[in-house]
Amino acid sequence: MKTVAAFDRIGEENAFAVLARANQLADEGRDIINLGIGQPDFPTPDHIVEAAVRALRDGHHGYTAATGIPQLRQGVAADLHRRLGVEVNPDNVLIVPGGKVTMFMAILMFGEVGGQIMYPDPGFPIYKSMIEFTGASPVPIPIREANEFGVAAEDVLDQITSATRLIILNSPGNPTGGVTRKDQIDQLVDGLEAFPHVAILSDEIYGQMLFDGLQHASLLNYPQIRNRLILLDGWSKTYAMTGWRLGYSVWPDDLYDKARKLAVNSYSCVNAPAQWAALAALEGPQTPVHDMVAEFDRRRRAVVAGLCGIENISCTTPGGAFYAFPNISNTGWKAKALAAALLEEVGVATVGGPDFGDMGEGFIRLSYANSLENIERALARIGDFLSKRSSTSG
Ligand code: PLP
Repeated sequence: MKTVAAFDRIGEENAFAVLARANQLADEGRDIINLGIGQPDFPTPDHIVEAAVRALRDGHHGYTAATGIPQLRQGVAADLHRRLGVEVNPDNVLIVPGGKVTMFMAILMFGEVGGQIMYPDPGFPIYKSMIEFTGASPVPIPIREANEFGVAAEDVLDQITSATRLIILNSPGNPTGGVTRKDQIDQLVDGLEAFPHVAILSDEIYGQMLFDGLQHASLLNYPQIRNRLILLDGWSKTYAMTGWRLGYSVWPDDLYDKARKLAVNSYSCVNAPAQWAALAALEGPQTPVHDMVAEFDRRRRAVVAGLCGIENISCTTPGGAFYAFPNISNTGWKAKALAAALLEEVGVATVGGPDFGDMGEGFIRLSYANSLENIERALARIGDFLSKRSSTSG
């Protein structure tokens, strides 16, 4: 069937293809260690699961408002106030089925032929995929190892043109774990004053996963851009709830109703018991979040130390999220070929850097959402493989 041309341009997320191949190999009896997928390996905390069960028993079986239940919108505003000290009106909060939905809506709102949208490279692959789907031109913001994978303000400001419609930022970032420094955000926001026609989408889904005492520098903290800032956040990573499909966004007044209409025209509302569970997540004890982040920190140290101990690999210490992005360019392998060989030959699933953008060549992504024991086994396999195959050009 012939469909619209936009489908010739839509992309996807290769991490899911890696997962499928890893599962296939595991089903064939291979011992696979999965460092490929971007989701916490922890269960959703019990009190959150219980809240969903209770909601079902209490009869929350019907549609809710398209924007989300009012209690949850208020809960999100209260949580943002508690964490970031910002005032957010619950009327600007939209409950959505997963963080991805906010980027989908925002890119649909600003992407059209003739327009430009800036996105991080390497970055979450859906940004570029959706930009191209809309017909807009994707303009990469280089995410450099030399900047510890944070955004440099001038790399953004220097590329703004009269055609720029939207700038997408993501800190802490996928796939690098890099955190954009606050002085760079300050400089960026100052510079944006000269470009009032440009909207900003800040993807802060890893905002509570920070290490070494780093504080989350949310774009919400800059009142001068609030009238053109879209915040993307959600429960998937913070509360280990990827399968629940829950997220939220904060929209400026004049965009909110457009986002609501996209909701009404597509999914109607987020599943009702999941929304009650989301409220329990925000209002209940935060110890499970802190414990999970502490465990990620232990693994992060092990991953970085282990990778740096492998000949021809170096690894910048990530400041957030649960990814390491080692530089493998001295191994003689191309990144995707190395990721494929590690999976096929030694059973370690990772994702090649180019799956996150052209600037990802020379790197692979390891997600340390796996046990310390498995991480250590995987690192031993990678080291062993490269010691035998380092000079092979992939
Ligand atoms: N934004 C980033 C940077 C991500 O890495 C992900 C998921 O991997 C998402 C958004 C999407 O999150 P969700 O699963 O809630 O749609």
